[in-house]
Amino acid sequence: MILVTGGAGYIGSHAVLELLLAGNEVLVLDNLCNSSKIALDRVEALTGRKAQFVKGDVRNRSLLNALFASYPVTAVLHFAGLKAVGESVREPLRYYETNVSGSIALCQAMAEAGIFKLVFSSSATVYGDSPKMPITENCPTGLPTNPYGQSKLMAENVLKGLAESDPRWSIALLRYFNPIGAHESGLIGEDPNGTPNNLLPYMLQVAVGRRKQLSIYGADYPTPDGTGVRDYIHVVDLAKGHLKALERLNLVHGVSTWNLGTGRGYSVRQMVTAFEEVIGRRLPHVFKARRPGDIAQCWSDPTKAREELGWQAEKDLLTMLTDAWRWQSRNPQGYAVEQTATGKAEANPETALAS
Ligand code: NAD
Ligand code: UDP
Repeated sequence: MILVTGGAGYIGSHAVLELLLAGNEVLVLDNLCNSSKIALDRVEALTGRKAQFVKGDVRNRSLLNALFASYPVTAVLHFAGLKAVGESVREPLRYYETNVSGSIALCQAMAEAGIFKLVFSSSATVYGDSPKMPITENCPTGLPTNPYGQSKLMAENVLKGLAESDPRWSIALLRYFNPIGAHESGLIGEDPNGTPNNLLPYMLQVAVGRRKQLSIYGADYPTPDGTGVRDYIHVVDLAKGHLKALERLNLVHGVSTWNLGTGRGYSVRQMVTAFEEVIGRRLPHVFKARRPGDIAQCWSDPTKAREELGWQAEKDLLTMLTDAWRWQSRNPQGYAVEQTATGKAEANPETALAS
């Protein structure tokens, strides 16, 4: 059985779906602070299989101990964490506590239970403002400009030290580039709380009328059209990368780092133009000054993942945008409406173990 922390969230729910389709038994631990249980109900509808669900906090050691005593967990995908950059500047301790202390608590409980396979959700943000493009795993990590990025780098370093101290550990650090898109069914997708920080969720909310217009932050970057360039990757491709990493951890020990990206960068202007083609109309937008802390460009060299994991991204930008739009246009308020109507998200008490 695979424990998926944060499995009700955006990337986690897509990973749970792929795990179930591949025949794995899955246990999800999520405190639902940024997600809805409905995502897992929909994963069940899509796969015809059910993940066990426990509502609880990854920092809760006694809960983790109880879970490992009750379920035959052999490996962990650790998605649980906080990810809003601006919020991390305002509430740094909450970010370090969840993303760093949460990872430590999880590893302590895993070691105590004799479980040593872990896949960690890291981010390309750990490279900082890399002078070299594309970015390989050998590029030095940089100086992340906010507590969120720092917390990911700190957690990576904690895990490296842990694996060096004890050869039983097999740990994958997966450095995601920019996950976007949704499952092709349109039933699960990204549902950010409050004002979206990221480009695609913001564009989607403008397109469904929840926001007036997109602000494009900076048209004076040293990029071909002056706007920021990123490596956008379909969330289903990303989810599949986790299954490949899990397979690989059966063969290797220590810490392994893999970039999960497409190897291709798109500018904000290119994203807006491509999205306008998908929705068949203009997307209202204005140009604004650069956003503090943003870098000009960032895209991956995904060779290592291809060679070592046998994984590569398969879905192109049109598919990413079409799938994202299917999700958002069919669920303009995300999971919110159904959640209020059924109260399902509140169904599991903190300490109850799932049946
Ligand atoms: P998300 O917010 O949708 O998912 C995170 C999940 O973790 C949520 O369901 C949330 O309720 C849960 N969670 C948060 N704190 C918890 C806690 N203390 N205990 C238990 N559950 C908790 O975010 P996501 O986009 O799916 O990201 C998943 C992981 O990938 C995160 O660690 C994030 O930092 C990392 N990541 C995301 C991106 C991105 O652009 N989405 C990029 C790089 C890395
Ligand atoms: N961006 C933008 N408007 C927004 C959000 C993002 O112009 O409302 C730009 C941002 O400056 C960057 C790109 O879109 O060049 C991707 O930003 P995002 O926050 O999605 O990812 P990250 O910067 O964390 O890679």
